[in-house]
Amino acid sequence: MTPKQPFSLHYTGLIDKYRERLPIAPGVPAVSLGEGGTPLVKLHNLIQFLALEIDLYVKYEGANPTGSFKDRGMTVAVTQAVDEGSRAIICASTGNTSAAAAAYAARAGLTAFVIIPEGNIALGKLAQAMMHGAKVIQIKGNFDQGMALVKSLADAAPVTLVNSVNPFRLQGQKTIAFEVVEALGRAPDYHCLPVGNAGNITAHWIGYCEAAGVPGERTTAACAYCKGQCRFVSDRLTEKRPVLLGYQAEGAAPFLSNAFVDNPETVATAIRIGRPQSWESAWTASRESGGWFTGVSDEQILHAQKMLAEKEGIFCEPASAASIAGLLVDLEQGRLIPGSTVVCTVTGHGLKDPDTAISSSAKPMTVAAEEGAVKAIILDNIG
Ligand SMILES: *Cc1c(COP(=O)(O)O)cnc(C)c1O
Repeated sequence: MTPKQPFSLHYTGLIDKYRERLPIAPGVPAVSLGEGGTPLVKLHNLIQFLALEIDLYVKYEGANPTGSFKDRGMTVAVTQAVDEGSRAIICASTGNTSAAAAAYAARAGLTAFVIIPEGNIALGKLAQAMMHGAKVIQIKGNFDQGMALVKSLADAAPVTLVNSVNPFRLQGQKTIAFEVVEALGRAPDYHCLPVGNAGNITAHWIGYCEAAGVPGERTTAACAYCKGQCRFVSDRLTEKRPVLLGYQAEGAAPFLSNAFVDNPETVATAIRIGRPQSWESAWTASRESGGWFTGVSDEQILHAQKMLAEKEGIFCEPASAASIAGLLVDLEQGRLIPGSTVVCTVTGHGLKDPDTAISSSAKPMTVAAEEGAVKAIILDNIG
């Protein structure tokens, strides 16, 4: 028999790993499904295919337990809710927040109420919320209307709001920056991500500021947003911070027009948001990092999604592909310094939205159940 290891290498989620950098007290048990620790995949084929003069990595958040980065925020928000004695949580969602809320509520033995826009949520996300036993409430309205509803409900009923206006959500989501810095040994030069409600771009900036240990940044809006909960521990993980590039779908692009959008429309339902809740802090993150926002069309999003799947084996949902699509637009316009190291957050798994994937792919070929028929197809298609 081998002797017992003095410690376990078994990964048990981001609260256990980063507790000293999170506003969760030492003795409080984590409500965890093993989230975080997602792959940082270096792209080779796409770089060659498009002749890009950068090093490009994707942080594949589809590998989280419910298939999106929302799990990072939800483990901290639900752990805190349980510690405060809450018995129910509520959120408005374009889909992934409800999937994560439903799963973490199940894990914690809480009731989850999720409010979703009728007809505008991807099939996989709806299946998740239903399967985990959440009380699913569809509204005849969009996400922004759902958000206004849950904000007033959280004051009127005994439920904890777990949208990203809950500061514990962003505290969990900031850990993505720590993981990228650990994997690369430093911060990338640019970090690209899709922007909807803008909580995640805010969380990325909080994480990079903390990793770089920039105490002055504590007074900025990005950090004021986390209500003094930022933890600047003494060990500095990186010297510099990346430029943050935020990408929006053209039909839902309030950061491009610098004005809220009343009827946002895009195939990328996860970023179909016209009134981002983290409006000010996202502007601060963008400005302080020296970054900018760029818009992409639905066509560019679907094209990028397809390329990433076909050339690299990475299947993400449409909203996630906005980070690649936007980067390609910015590269085309020569806005990045050649030779840079770039990370794109690929926010959610492609299986979330099978309908969009099937409608943008070639149909299966149907033939007789005969060797000759199948062989003919092989010979026709072999590269
Ligand atoms: C929530 C979500 C986004 C947008 O993140 P925000 O914090 O709302 O800006 C992007 N992609 C996916 C897959 C999401 O679930």
